[in-house]
Amino acid sequence: MAIILSGKEISDRLTAEQKERVKELKAQGIQPGLAVVLVGEDPASQIYVRNKGIACETIGIYSETIRLPGDTTQGQLEDTIQKLNKDNKISGILVQLPLPKHLNEDAALACILPEKDVDGFHLINAGRLFSGQESVIPCTPKGILYMLKEAGISLAGKEAVIVGRSNIVGKPAAMLLMREHCTVTVCHSRTKDLAEHTRRADILVAAIGKPRFITADMVKPGAAVMDVGINRVEGKVVGDVDFEPVSRVAGFITPVPGGIGKMTISMLMENTLEAACRQGR
Ligand code: NDP
Repeated sequence: MAIILSGKEISDRLTAEQKERVKELKAQGIQPGLAVVLVGEDPASQIYVRNKGIACETIGIYSETIRLPGDTTQGQLEDTIQKLNKDNKISGILVQLPLPKHLNEDAALACILPEKDVDGFHLINAGRLFSGQESVIPCTPKGILYMLKEAGISLAGKEAVIVGRSNIVGKPAAMLLMREHCTVTVCHSRTKDLAEHTRRADILVAAIGKPRFITADMVKPGAAVMDVGINRVEGKVVGDVDFEPVSRVAGFITPVPGGIGKMTISMLMENTLEAACRQGR
């Protein structure tokens, strides 16, 4: 049976550490602050935004949620971001994705000052990560790497297969694992013989958005299976991995819920603290 990598346990420990760090920063006159911009009424986004606010409150980070109506124009959204760029109380800005269809996500993300971009989605930060420079690392891939390291899983020379090539998970996860000297394969909806690839993986990252898509026959015995998926099925949250059967084959597996989702929030707090330190306020 696979060892279950509990994101909850790690994130509880990180929360305690982050609380202490916030106290120390405040003593130096630095008050970290996070602004989350939410446009529209998407139910999943409402939950994510609420959880981010709770995490800030727990740790002692000042937080603001700016709720804009679903018919907000691009100009209004960008004006909001520009105001937050100039606001000294705010060290980090996050625009909750997805935005309503009529809005241009790329243009909105480009408005965030790169030093306040706590999601690491700004082109400058994505480019820095791509070219191996120091950058803000997107929270979910950062959380995946943190969990692998916590579990003592060696990465250099390992086969890492990532299913999913989004800008927020798949691509940055590939860059990070390559930086750790894995041999990385990125798969997507046009990949032929997907299972041929996944069965080679020592580290398998599932970021697809399809419930229980990765089945036991697709997994190499002993692999570390990192399940990013968050899917709602009959009122239950399940991952992209068929958890029970896969956990009988894998060496390590992350649960959903209580796995990478928890780590993502912890890494957002981490990125906010780093942003506050960078800005010195
Ligand atoms: P996207 O929808 O942006 O990307 C999904 C990727 O999966 C695409 O690259 C797509 O390929 C690929 N894909 C779809 N179908 C198949 C298939 N049949 N075979 C192989 N690849 C396929 O999703 P995200 O990356 O934003 O999110 C993925 C999942 O992770 C979602 O469930 C999301 O809710 C969850 N998530 C969880 C987070 C957390 O904190 N735990 C954070 C962010 C996301 P193609 O590019 O060809 O379309």
